Amino acid sequence: MNNQENVLYIPKIELGIVIDHIPAGKGLKILDIISRYEEMKDVVVTLGQNYYSKKLGKKDLIKLQMEYLAPEIIQHISIVAPGVTIKAIKDFKVHNKVVVHPPKEIRNLLECKNPKCITNQEKHIGTKFTAVDDTIKEVKCNYCERVFKLSELDVINR
Ligand SMILES: [Zn+2]
Repeated sequence: MNNQENVLYIPKIELGIVIDHIPAGKGLKILDIISRYEEMKDVVVTLGQNYYSKKLGKKDLIKLQMEYLAPEIIQHISIVAPGVTIKAIKDFKVHNKVVVHPPKEIRNLLECKNPKCITNQEKHIGTKFTAVDDTIKEVKCNYCERVFKLSELDVINR
């Protein structure tokens, strides 16, 4: 099977955003995030699951019929699925492509797992986590100073 044939499995779009290289199974999680944003309410979304991927074995893929994805949504996605590729498509071609990584500082997006943390006692206080090192696999709560794996923290429901 050559690359050309591989591409044909995924129908091309003329204009839009493609979130690619999503680890299989995480596509639904990303859809959940996207649906939390008011501005995404009317966007046409296609989810593909379990596509063949040389890099990942299996991958999910999301297509959005829109021109521009807000930075806060991209940041949100980067935390839930670090390493996914976000591509902007124009005239059926990849116009722009970025691999997303979580930021070193994450504000008001994740819930602290420490029930005694002040951010859980007084909800008006926003949360803030800072990466422990460059890999950004672990983050530290700026309030209670506990360290958590980024993957174990839940996103605040809003
Ligand atoms: Zn905390």
